[in-house]
Order: sequence, then structure tokens, then C-alpha cells
Amino acid sequence: MFNVPAIFGSMVFNDHVMKERLPKDTYKALKKTIEERKYLDETLADVVAGAMKDWAIEKGATHFTHWFQPMTGITAEKHDSFISPVGDGTIIMEFSGKELIKGEPDASSFPSGGLRATFEARGYTAWDPTSYAFIKEKTLCIPTAFCSYSGEALDKKTPLLRSIDAISTQAVRILRLFGNTEVVRVNTTVGPEQEYFLVDKALHDKREDLVYCGRTLFGAKPPKGQELEDHYFGAIKPRITAYMQELNEELWKLGVLSKTEHNEVAPAQHELAPIFTNTNTGTDHNQLVMEMMKKVAMRHGLVCLLHEKPFAGVNGSGKHNNWSMSTDAGANLLEPGDSPLENAQFLLFLVAVIKAVDKYQDLLRVSVASAGNDHRLGANEAPPAIVSVFLGEELTGIIEAIENGTAYNKKDRERMTIGVDVLPPFPKDTTDRNRTSPFAFTGNKFEFRMVGSSFSIADPNMILNTIVADVLSEFADKLEKSKDFTADLNAIIKKTIQEHKRIIFNGNNYSEDWVKEAESRGLLNMKSTVDALPCLISEKNVKLFDKFGVLTPVEVHSRYDIMLENYCKVLSIEALTMVDIAKKQILPAAVEYMNDLSKTAAQKKSTFPSITCKLEEQLLTKISALSGLLYQKTETLESDLLKCKTFGDTKGEAEFYRDVIFVDMQELRAVADEMEALVGKKYWPFPTYGELLFNV
Ligand code: ADP
Ligand code: MG
Repeated sequence: MFNVPAIFGSMVFNDHVMKERLPKDTYKALKKTIEERKYLDETLADVVAGAMKDWAIEKGATHFTHWFQPMTGITAEKHDSFISPVGDGTIIMEFSGKELIKGEPDASSFPSGGLRATFEARGYTAWDPTSYAFIKEKTLCIPTAFCSYSGEALDKKTPLLRSIDAISTQAVRILRLFGNTEVVRVNTTVGPEQEYFLVDKALHDKREDLVYCGRTLFGAKPPKGQELEDHYFGAIKPRITAYMQELNEELWKLGVLSKTEHNEVAPAQHELAPIFTNTNTGTDHNQLVMEMMKKVAMRHGLVCLLHEKPFAGVNGSGKHNNWSMSTDAGANLLEPGDSPLENAQFLLFLVAVIKAVDKYQDLLRVSVASAGNDHRLGANEAPPAIVSVFLGEELTGIIEAIENGTAYNKKDRERMTIGVDVLPPFPKDTTDRNRTSPFAFTGNKFEFRMVGSSFSIADPNMILNTIVADVLSEFADKLEKSKDFTADLNAIIKKTIQEHKRIIFNGNNYSEDWVKEAESRGLLNMKSTVDALPCLISEKNVKLFDKFGVLTPVEVHSRYDIMLENYCKVLSIEALTMVDIAKKQILPAAVEYMNDLSKTAAQKKSTFPSITCKLEEQLLTKISALSGLLYQKTETLESDLLKCKTFGDTKGEAEFYRDVIFVDMQELRAVADEMEALVGKKYWPFPTYGELLFNV
């Protein structure tokens, strides 16, 4: 038995450690820098670095790294050891303030979307003191932002930090209007529920598609899938329990508030949810969660699949991004209050989010767009590609009463005046009743459910923060000039509901009817990544990012380029893998089986000329026809892949991948899956769905 409180955060240079190890003045100055969100000056940094190094060495660290989040969506690190020669053949362990606050990784191989010409390949990393340093595998990791020398953001953290500042400024303006003079900062909070699959490593390694693409490109449906729903919240098997225990231990050491774990709907699928924290730390922690999930799996002979759709026909994996706003005193701004004033404030923040989601449906859709997530959004288990807000019946009733100027409850004779009356009590929807909504209000937070399981949550949260900041700033502009606050507040809330209620939908988001209704409401339905991405660079959105200093127009365009390119690359790798598997594994297996079948038939005939060989004949006919078709589909895919190189522009290329290559791939797969059902088990060249899904 280990002592959880004792190991929790034991590998983190957190506030507790800083207080203990830094001289009082340094500690105070560092805290001030963190609170004011400034970068550290070098003299102060020297002292902090010294204390950090001593602490890290005591914990067994030998190296340090600037830990950053390039636009690949995962983290990057280059390790330097602390050693420094003293000239007599010995070394001392050194770590300077300069090394702490700034690094210069040779960054030419990270995606920059054309931001950095290769002759100016340098980028630099700068310590983000708002996220604690930590030790991972004998290396002191310093969370950093990553920029080019001309100052453009080359990572996902920098714009996230900027968006956190933007929403803080605007939310504080609103709070001042409600008479709050104390709050200095408003933070957004996040608790991402992470879904993942675990498969046996030995089986995994026999499948090229899983090894190269993280998802299966072939595979017939097993006799049993998830239809009995016996896996969801089911008893956790010993091998998985051991895995989860070790994962928790690793995460707790890193200060990650890993809290809940359970089996998910699909066989071999599981979920981990942390206790929420501020968005910057929450984003860093989610990266650590994903990394540790993979690493710990290896130690248990397992592989953790974070792909959005590892298996066709069973549920895919997402990441429910629970999001709210909280003052520096810890008050949740999306929590209904008890007094008329608190209620009014709650309603204003609530309608701000509703308006933001409606006005920027396109950006939210872009924030979750990827080749992997295309398999999920709009398929039967995930939210559709249409963005809408779930409020629950009770809150919707209140909103409608405000809109129509009617009483919410028949017993109330008077209609409600916001800022004067209290809200009628309404039960919080903590039951998660509507699991189909892409953006659900769950009592005191919103749950953005479209995020893919492999995503960094930096982008979705950067976008959420920015779009809500935009609406809050618009409200503040109006209300700061107001002569009659209560009247104007009522008017703003009412008008916002009237203009944006089309985004509210409490019904079944998976139904065909909703698709039609959403269309009649004028809501966007962008089915694929390639449809959605151009929205990122629309005039409205480029202006938004610029206005709040979150991304410059150049930075927005570079991100757009990277996302488009990434889509093409993923599809290209998948298509090439399919060709390889079809030609080198599936066809030879089919030929071998056919060979044995014909030999058997010939033998039977020569031994007993009167015997029937109908079975062999029928199987041979079917498999032979399918093999021919498979070969033909492979040839088509191969020759279409050659055409991809002829496009001058990435957008045209991406469209070709979506319209032609993706279709080729599906057709090829359909033939192979049909063959799998006919070819003998010992001939089939890789583990089946049944083996992969039920063997852990
Ligand atoms: P509950 O908090 O009632 O258990 P859930 O199980 O749906 O509700 O919570 C799911 C996730 O939502 C958890 O990761 C939790 O930490 C997170 N969460 C709860 N409150 C907030 C909040 N105010 N801001 C962000 N995330 C939150
Ligand atoms: Mg939830």
C-alpha cells in the first residue's frame, strides 16, 4: 500500500516546495511574477534555478528540458544534462537562471506553417512560470512557450495563455459592473474526461495498420461487439486494474488530479477523468495523462490507443472538455446564485456563452477538426458535426420566460425582472441525461463533447476563451455606458436570447430529424475537416483573434496551413499502409488458401472420382472473384495516390483526399472485410477484431 498524500505532487516543484526552498524575498518576487503573469528577470531566475536543480538532483534527476507543445499537438523535449566540466577531469552539476528562462531548440523540424523560413530556423522557448516544473523520468521538465525569433507563436500554449488573459480582462469588466471590486483575475477551468482503448501489445504489433496509423484500416465485425452493453461500468479486469493503479500512481506523483476511472461502452475501452483545474495547468496535465497512458501500457504488455476511431463498428473515443469560469477567489461564474444580483450575473455569463457558441459555431467546429475525428463526429455514437447547446428543460423554461416576458411558473403571477427578482429554483442537470449534445450545460459548467481523444485541449479551450471574451467585451461596452443598469441588463439578456436561441437544442442530437431541423434553423453542418478548416481564416475570425491579441493574422494562416497539411499527410499514410497490407498480406493469404482448396479438390477427385467438390468450388469461386476485386481496388487507390502530387495547392489536395482517396479506401476495405469472413483463420495474416477487443 502506498501513501497517496505522500506521493501526490512529489515530483512537482510546486508552491509548497518553492516556499520551503526559496529565500523569502525570492519566493515573494516569484509569486508576484506568476500572479502578474510576467516573465522572470535573470537574477531572480538564478536563485530559482539553483533551488530547482538541488531539489531535482535530490529526486534523482540528471537532466533538464524545456517541455513545450509544438503544433504537432503532442509535447516535445530535448534533454540536457546538468553536468559542467571544471577543467580537472571532474564535473559539477549546474543549472543557471538563463537556462531556466530561455532555451533555443533547433526547431526547424517542427511545423510552422511557413512562419519560419528554414534559413532562420531558430526558435526559442520561454519558461511559463504559471505552470509548475516537474520531474519525469530523471529529467527536470520546465513548461515553456515556444516562439520564433520574430515573436510569432509556434506552439499551442502561447495562444492559450493569451486567450486566458483576454477572457480574464473582459470577465473582470463585467464583474465590476456588478459591484465586485476585489476580483483581479478570472480563470477558466477545465476537467477533460479522457477516453482510450487498451489492446494486447503482442497482437497489436502484428497489425501494420495499428503500428503505423493507430487505427485499424481493415477488420470484419466480430460476432460480439458492444451490443450487450456489458462493458460499460463493468467490473474491471485484473490486468487493467493493475494498469490503472500504476497510471494513477505516476500521475499523482506529477500532481495530476486523476480521480475517476471506469470501463467505457466499447469492449477494451476505458476512461479517466481528473478533478478540474485552471486551463493552463489542465492542458499541460492532459498532455501528461496521454503520455503516461501510453508509457504505462507498455510496462503491462499493452498498447494504449488514443485514436478517435481505432475500430469501425464500435464506439470511438472522445474527450469531454468540461469548461467554466472562476474568479481568483474561487467563485464559479456559471453557478446560479442565491440573490437577485448573483442570478442576474449568472444569466449574463450564461447568455454570453450561448451567444458565443452561436456566433462562432464555425470556430468550435474547426477546433475539433482532424482526419481522425472525422470518423467520429456525426457517426452514431458521437455528437454530430452540428454545434448546438443543451440547457436542460428547466433552464430552457426560464430562458423562454425571460424572452417572452412571461412568468416561468404558472404559480408566479409576476414576470421576473433580472437583477431584482431571484431565479426560480431549478434542479441541476447532473444526470448527464442528454449524452448526445455536443455542448451541454451540466449545472455549473459546460461540457464540450466534440473534442477528439488524441487532441491537445489547448485549441478548443483557446477558442472557447476567445469567443466568450468577445461577447463579454461587447456586453461590457454597452453596460459601462448604461444609465439604468437593471433595465439595460434585462434588455441585453432578452435580446441575446431572442437572437441566439436557435443554437439551443435539448432533443436527440443523433436523430435525422435534428439534422433537418438544424438546417432550417440555419445552423452549420460541416461534415469533414476539409469543409470546416477554411472557416479558420474567414475575415470575421481573423479579426476576432487579432482584436484580442490571441493570434495575429499571420499566425492564424500558418495554423490553417498546418491543419490542412496534416489532414493530407494522415490520409496519405493510411492509404499507403492499406496498399501495403492488401498486396503483401491479404492477397498472398488468399492465394495460399485458394491453393490449398484447389489441391484438396484435386486430391479428392483423383482418389474418389465420383466425390463432389462443390464446397471447394464455391469457396474458390467467391474468393477468387473477391481477390480480383481487391487487386483492382488496390490498383485504383495506388494510381489515385499518384494524382495527389499534381495539386499545386494544399486545399485542392485535401479535397481530393476527402473526395477520392477516402472513398477508394472505404471500397478497398469493404472487399477485404468480406474476404476475411471467408478465408480460413490460420491463413488470415493478422489478428481479428474479436481477438483484439476481447483479449485484455
Ligand atoms: P461531477 O463534478 O458532478 O462529478 P462530472 O462527473 O460530469 O460531474 O464531472 C466531469 C468532469 O467535469 C470532471 O473532470 C470534473 O472535474 C469536471 N468539472 C467539474 N466542475 C468543473 C468546473 N467548474 N470547471 C471545469 N470542469 C469541471
Ligand atoms: Mg461528464
